[in-house]
Amino acid sequence: MNSGSSPAILYITGKGLGLAQKLAGLYPGARILKFMPGIVPELWGRHRTLIFVMAAGIAVRSISRFVKDKKTDPAVVVLDEKGRFAVSLLSGHLGGANERAREIAGFLGGEAVITTSSDVNDVVPIDLWARDNELAIEDWRLVSGVGTRLLDKGALHVYTETVNELPAGFVRVFGPEEADICITNRSDVPRALSAASACERPLFLRPRNLVIGLGCNSGTSREEIDAAVRKTLDECNLSFLSVRSVATIDRKAAEPGLVAFAADHGLPVVVFSAGELNGVKGVKKSEAALKATGANAVAEPAALLAARDGVLREGKRKIGNVTVAVAEDKRNKRTKNMKQGRKGMIYIVGTGPGDSGHITPYARKAITGSDVLVGYGTYMDLIRDLTVGKEVFSTGMTQEVDRCRKAVELALQGKTVSVISGGDPGIYAMAGLVFEVLKNSGESSVKGKRSGNKEASRVRPQRPGTNSSQIGVEVVPGISALNACAARLGAPLMHDFASISLSDRLTPWELIEKRLDAAAMADFVIALYNPKSKGRAGRIREARDIILRHRSAKTPVGIVRAAMREGEHVVVTDIEKMLDHEIDMQTTVLVGNAQTFVWNGRMITPRGYEKKFRT
Ligand code: SAH
Repeated sequence: MNSGSSPAILYITGKGLGLAQKLAGLYPGARILKFMPGIVPELWGRHRTLIFVMAAGIAVRSISRFVKDKKTDPAVVVLDEKGRFAVSLLSGHLGGANERAREIAGFLGGEAVITTSSDVNDVVPIDLWARDNELAIEDWRLVSGVGTRLLDKGALHVYTETVNELPAGFVRVFGPEEADICITNRSDVPRALSAASACERPLFLRPRNLVIGLGCNSGTSREEIDAAVRKTLDECNLSFLSVRSVATIDRKAAEPGLVAFAADHGLPVVVFSAGELNGVKGVKKSEAALKATGANAVAEPAALLAARDGVLREGKRKIGNVTVAVAEDKRNKRTKNMKQGRKGMIYIVGTGPGDSGHITPYARKAITGSDVLVGYGTYMDLIRDLTVGKEVFSTGMTQEVDRCRKAVELALQGKTVSVISGGDPGIYAMAGLVFEVLKNSGESSVKGKRSGNKEASRVRPQRPGTNSSQIGVEVVPGISALNACAARLGAPLMHDFASISLSDRLTPWELIEKRLDAAAMADFVIALYNPKSKGRAGRIREARDIILRHRSAKTPVGIVRAAMREGEHVVVTDIEKMLDHEIDMQTTVLVGNAQTFVWNGRMITPRGYEKKFRT
């Protein structure tokens, strides 16, 4: 263990020495030193952790001159001589003082004193999260402001082009315009789009996913290499902070200018043999490179190899004595413990009643941002303008389980999938089923045995180390038929209502009858979904008769077919005459309560406060 990674423990009194020696049990390589004026400058910069066993005031006075910033300052922890309190004084997050304070408190049976607000309020510390996800922070001055916004608003809007897994409180948005945090390697993403003040500027986090492939003539200066790389990145609108490494041929491993350039920026140099470089397919060959190095090309294949799952962002450019290519590692970055498998995302999206004006902007973005769309043919037709150029997996009405299984399979391959439902996806639609399939496939892959749902359990992890519990899932709500139909009718759902599906495909009819009776008896407004189909033409009559047991035949009824889509038809009638009108599977029937009335062809359920218009 070098001195940097083991703490220095400073004491003043004999009791302090005793405690310091006890702490050596926790940090075996620790240096134990008697505190004296002038000792801190010698330790600062050499040790990543300083532990002061003494009054906090002494510690503060002795370190104050050296404190610089949270990226470079060491962790400073102060302990009282009895070891009752371990105070994280400086560099709580990146420096690790909070972690050390907790370790020490745990070891001594004392209490850690932590004051960083993300820890106190139990929200994600942005600097640590960025570090763990290999994201470079572009402007440190914005970090605390964004952290405060997270605390104040309870959530942050995050636009990300790489990170799949977002912690609690980070809400994914699909455009940088609305974001508090932008995760992208593109430097042309606008900065202060609508932000009025500097404190609302988005924080840019740069994924470390670019590799610079370099070739150069012998003796090329670091300055020339630096200028060539910067020019290339600038012209391609890529952030320098996203550069993870420099790649070249092994013969250039000790080229002074190249080594100095990499060292200036703290970048590792990754080298490949001519044989390895020649094995990369699809790159431009160069006679000059072959002559000079024995490889057909250097910059492009080296960048691609070092980027592993790489694609070329910029093909080879020759700038003076330097050749530069840029490759991007396309693997999505995951949190530390998920590195083995590529993890996908499922959006369970509701597209609303039908026409394109009633789909939410968020649902649109989820769909356009997906690799694959999975859904029932009719709904897919309704959103045809959004499906252009997408891989589409569409099946018939009764193959929901197949569709969900397919979605999970695709997500396990690392794809972003939108499972499309009409209306709201959580109302008589796909959301529940997706979760059931995920649950079952998770159980079957973890336990290695088949679960009850045969279909669902057939979903198997596609790559070792990946299972369905690692897939990100987000339900994206939509306007349900009852919202759309109520809007067309007037205001029938102003008071308590019950929604009942008359489909007995998945629910026994006896249970549906029981619910109809209970809802009617309790004077709920009732929304009847799936009122009729070919095989069950009589159910709507049976439903009406049950409701009639408790409600007057004159109770208003609204019948809305194809609300907010082609073929829309709205009827306001009553229970007595409702069956005289056409009711089909594209129809929702709303039955009023005892107060519901009709006015100017509109169906209205009053909120019930009769007194409200009395003066
Ligand atoms: N998830 C959907 C409901 C699917 S069940 C939603 O939230 O709306 C299918 C039933 O929804 C249909 O039989 C019909 O009763 C109702 N429905 C769906 N779209 C409709 C529309 N545009 N107009 C009227 N009813 C509709």
